[in-house]
Amino acid sequence: MSIHPTEFYEDGSMYVVYDEQQHEGIVTLDQLLPAAPDLITGIIDPTIKGLPCPDGCGDISWHPIGGGADPPNVQEMYVRNFVAREGMTPIEAIELVKKEIARTDPGSRWAVPSEREAVLRTL
Ligand SMILES: [Zn+2]
Repeated sequence: MSIHPTEFYEDGSMYVVYDEQQHEGIVTLDQLLPAAPDLITGIIDPTIKGLPCPDGCGDISWHPIGGGADPPNVQEMYVRNFVAREGMTPIEAIELVKKEIARTDPGSRWAVPSEREAVLRTL
């Protein structure tokens, strides 16, 4: 499942596990890496973000907003990132993630459990 978040904390950090290497630890939302700018337009795709391994080994997993192998946790990571780093309200962030999942990955759907979505709405 690569490098993925497993738990989120109020201070903007998350517990992250790298399954294949059995590395784990804390990564903060401001450590998420932006995608490389488009070579022609220079635009950075906000629907792809890199999550670095917490132990500093240098490995990075690139997660599409739909969540790939771990939709609930990756989608929650995007919501929390948009709120903490982009200044969105929780409702705006949740709606944007849902919209971008539908646009970029029609095979995926919103996968954050309702009890966790309720917590996100209070960020
Ligand atoms: Zn590592």
